[in-house]
Amino acid sequence: MTRRFDKVLIANRGEIALRILRACRLLDLETVVVHSEADRAAGYVGLADQAVCIGPPPAARSYLNPAALLLAAEATGAQAIHPGYGFLSEDAAFAERVEACGLTFIGPSAASIRTMGDKIAAKRAMQAAGVPCVPGSEGALPDDAAAVGRIAATVGYPVMIKAAGGGGGRGMRVVRFASELADALAITRAEARRAFANPDLYLEKFLERPRHVEIQVLCDAHGTELWLGDRDCSLQRRNQKVVEEAPAPGIDRDLIARIGERCAEACRQLGYRGVGTFEFLYEDGAFFFIEMNTRLQVEHTVTEMTGGLDIVQKQIEVALGEKLALTQADVTLSGHAIECRINAEDPVSFAPSAGRITRWDLPGGPGVRVDSHITCGDVVSPHYDSLIAKLVVHGADRRDALERARAALSEMKVEGISTNIPLHRDILQDDAFRAGGVTIHHLEERLAQGRAR
Ligand code: ADP
Repeated sequence: MTRRFDKVLIANRGEIALRILRACRLLDLETVVVHSEADRAAGYVGLADQAVCIGPPPAARSYLNPAALLLAAEATGAQAIHPGYGFLSEDAAFAERVEACGLTFIGPSAASIRTMGDKIAAKRAMQAAGVPCVPGSEGALPDDAAAVGRIAATVGYPVMIKAAGGGGGRGMRVVRFASELADALAITRAEARRAFANPDLYLEKFLERPRHVEIQVLCDAHGTELWLGDRDCSLQRRNQKVVEEAPAPGIDRDLIARIGERCAEACRQLGYRGVGTFEFLYEDGAFFFIEMNTRLQVEHTVTEMTGGLDIVQKQIEVALGEKLALTQADVTLSGHAIECRINAEDPVSFAPSAGRITRWDLPGGPGVRVDSHITCGDVVSPHYDSLIAKLVVHGADRRDALERARAALSEMKVEGISTNIPLHRDILQDDAFRAGGVTIHHLEERLAQGRAR
């Protein structure tokens, strides 16, 4: 049988480029890795069947340059493009261009990306599928500040003003009192116009002490829509996840199953294809949808460890047009997994740390997995995200996973640059984190206490 494609261009870098490359190899697909001038010597580049330099180090001139990527695909005869996460992975116009060139975009349709990229449209789609959302305005806010004031009063302060096109933690503002509303509206609207080319705003209840819990989905083009489990990603700093785990501790499994089924139903209604993540805030025993990510996520690994699935392989199989050989009943979760994001950064100031790695000792043993593109002697470039490794552990239960993470971190030794390994060691000794179920503010509160001591 001829396959839809047999050569994949990996339009990303670092650990996820290597992760995708490994999945392609298992499927007997040829690989093309693109790289900037800064990544020329990276080990994973040498593992690919072909490598193409697509530009100078700044991402805007390499990994974010659609024309360079498409030219590389044409030159190498790659018939599919995997965008990974970040960069162009949620760029609907790029997905469209890839398909217009007769190539396969390994992801959902451009229409799905576009719908979910507009948070008002996304919320509407979720409500239609019975996915619970944060209470708030119906659709976009009117221009008239007095009318918005009436909506805010009905929802109840504090509220959050959000830009429909916002992302990466930008374009949102908490409003605690009616007297602050008009200014917050004006500032957020100006920001939305400038940064997102979409002036629409909406408003929702601001939740004070939520957890971040998300649901992984996987769908094919033949009517199979599955949810693969939940993850708790509450341990964050400046909206960046630091530790993720699966399953989310201390939440009623029946409730999670009901939410998971609503997510699968939403995918059915949307005709969604590929992998995706429904992000929720969880507070006082209830789930509230905030957004959907239409791509592979960094933390897909913890779901792989508990579900025994290769999610990237499945994602590519779906793009090949294959029917998933899985039903919801086949998705069973076992044990507990924790991922520590190891970043090249100062563990106290969090300033990025670039330079040559002179020691790179990785942990091992049962239930320990390290996803990393780094080898000793590599130079960490200041041009990109500081993620250098994902340390993922799997244990029989949460306690076991915590012990494995602690033991693994004690074995991991990196020199030449600074890393946040000391922060992870500290987190694993934190009683509140060990007990499970901390809020999204916990890590920052703990860091603030540490500075005050
Ligand atoms: P982005 O696309 O910018 O990541 P999200 O809608 O995912 O935007 O929100 C980012 C973060 O902002 C959330 O993880 C949460 O910490 C906070 N947040 C968003 N909406 C609310 C809300 N209604 N109440 C409290 N916090 C919120």
